[in-house]
Amino acid sequence: MRVVVYGAGQLAQMMYLAGSPLGIDVQAVDVNSDTVVHPVSKTSLDIPLEQALDEADALTVEFEHVPERLLEEAARTTKLMPNIDSILVGADRVREKKLLESMSVANCEHKIVTHLEQLDDCVSVLGNRLILKASRDGYDGYGQWRLTDPVDLPALKKALSGLDLEAVPLVVEKMVAFDRELSLIGVRNAKGEVRTYPLAENLHHQGQLHVSVAPATHVDEALQAQAHDIFVKLAEGMNYVGVLAVELFQVGDKLLVNELAPRVHNSGHWTQSGAVTSQFENHLRAVCGLPLGDTTAIGPSAMVNIIGCNSFSRELLSIDGSHLHWYGKSVREKRKMGHINVTTNSYPELGEKLMALSNFLPLEYFPKLIEEATRLKG
Ligand code: AMP
Repeated sequence: MRVVVYGAGQLAQMMYLAGSPLGIDVQAVDVNSDTVVHPVSKTSLDIPLEQALDEADALTVEFEHVPERLLEEAARTTKLMPNIDSILVGADRVREKKLLESMSVANCEHKIVTHLEQLDDCVSVLGNRLILKASRDGYDGYGQWRLTDPVDLPALKKALSGLDLEAVPLVVEKMVAFDRELSLIGVRNAKGEVRTYPLAENLHHQGQLHVSVAPATHVDEALQAQAHDIFVKLAEGMNYVGVLAVELFQVGDKLLVNELAPRVHNSGHWTQSGAVTSQFENHLRAVCGLPLGDTTAIGPSAMVNIIGCNSFSRELLSIDGSHLHWYGKSVREKRKMGHINVTTNSYPELGEKLMALSNFLPLEYFPKLIEEATRLKG
């Protein structure tokens, strides 16, 4: 079987690695050059894109910002999974909010802004603390602005004055005082079967994910069921096939959907060694029409992103239960270079192992590690 993935980054690479034992060959499309490349070496496979699409059993994406002309070409083959509408929902916060509202899925109170004057209205309706998000092409905290005091509104308007808000509206949200950030990774196949993983707890710094812990601590059955129900509602409503990530805010015992990612997701990387079946394998199983794999967690796990740094001691592998996943990219500030998964038998043990890990890493690049290790050690 063969799957063609739009995007040639680390997610395509990890799909390739997961597909290999199943006899599923994964090819990647570099969407900047429309070339078909090997997902690990990134070298050209010397196959015209059209031929690769013809020969593939399924087409999928590793990121939602694939040029629309390519997505439309892929959709015409009827082999694109998830479907084009689901991918476009992930690429456009206005579409995303409309979908959530149409399905009555709880999300952050918001307004769509196409003219700067509407911001005054946002302050009167949503309050003084706002987060403004570009509806397209924003990710990892880019394309976002915050208002914490209305006296800053004129300066904010000035900063935004160069944007064409009619072309790319802003989604303006009330700043939510959430208790924590969680995500649910789930998978659905064309037969409508669904499996969801245990909730992961995600720690961000400057808008980027740094550490995930899964299963998240202090999750009772009701909270997991609430997340599962949100997933089922969304995945069924979108007629979704593949892995879908739902980013959530927990406020008391309620979950609000922050964002959807129509693909395998960074907060699901822990499943590579922390769950019976990884998100990458389950995504391939879903798009290839194979039975879905067990999503049970093996034990408490953490995923630690390596961001903007490439010098650390490989001796970290001396920690039992640790695995390094390196993406082979050149280093750049804030760039995700790789991640470390650690799977253990208990949360205190996970805390001990994260503390041990901190001895091998330049901590200025891992601002959440010690704090999380300390919390888990208890
Ligand atoms: P996003 O790109 O929407 O995932 O936002 C990046 C990060 O900003 C999130 O992970 C949160 O930490 C924070 N954030 C986003 N939206 C809100 C909100 N409405 N209220 C408070 N914090 C938010």
